[in-house]
Amino acid sequence: MRKAIQILSVLVLVLLAACSTDANSNAEETAENKDKEVATEEDAKQTEGNEVEEDKDEKNEEAKEDEPVVEEEVVKKYKLNTAFWGFEPINDAPSEAVLLTIDDAPDKHALDMAKTLKELEAPAIFFVNGHFMDTEEEKAIVKEIHEMGFEIGNHTMSHADLKSLSEEKQREEIVKLSDMIEEVIGERPTFFRAPFGSNTDFSKALVKEEGMLLMNWTYGYDWNKEYQNKEGITDIMVNTPLLQDGANLLMHDREWTAAGLADIVKGLRDKGYSMIDPETIDIELN
Ligand SMILES: [Zn+2]
Repeated sequence: MRKAIQILSVLVLVLLAACSTDANSNAEETAENKDKEVATEEDAKQTEGNEVEEDKDEKNEEAKEDEPVVEEEVVKKYKLNTAFWGFEPINDAPSEAVLLTIDDAPDKHALDMAKTLKELEAPAIFFVNGHFMDTEEEKAIVKEIHEMGFEIGNHTMSHADLKSLSEEKQREEIVKLSDMIEEVIGERPTFFRAPFGSNTDFSKALVKEEGMLLMNWTYGYDWNKEYQNKEGITDIMVNTPLLQDGANLLMHDREWTAAGLADIVKGLRDKGYSMIDPETIDIELN
């Protein structure tokens, strides 16, 4: 009798899996999911923003259609306003929120910065450069940052000024890096930022065609000599008069910014700002 039930269970799994393209992974994940059912809401919160986990959960849902759906689709809460390259709330999302972005990753400090942000549960976009992804070690860092739940954005292959390039070269700078990112993290990037904020009509159209949201930034300081120290960068990022609802904060993979990052996040939170989860940005509205 027990044997019969086992066989029946396997049959059910196979039938369910037949709806999908990957029978093995679905069966495995259904089994895995049973172990996960004791997960508390707290656990769910902790994995929020972790796309790899969410992907798994989506597949789990497909495999157990008869059970109530636990995970919700990501609700879009913000849209880009190009007037200040910041974000406006959609519906009743809090307006006192800022987006954290780290450019020129992964040079030397991106992984540490990701760990700092993860500890503080502060979401962010890491805009990566192709020339920082040309070794297996660097690729592994990008993968790890993504698996920690952070968004990986496209900041071009070689950090060239797009305005100085032919259309063919611009395409290479942008599309080649999206290909590379996809190869490493399994998905194409959703966000694009041009080096120096220097965009062309061609690159703008191409970025859109590639399904990415183009953004510059509201403010950033860590390339100025006077802010190239922990205290200086922390103070200006939190106390600049440019801090406003929805601000898009530009930071870089730099020693002083990495050192000040925890205090920057805490300082912003003390002022009442939450951090925008990039996944909640509606890129269809632009
Ligand atoms: Zn840059």
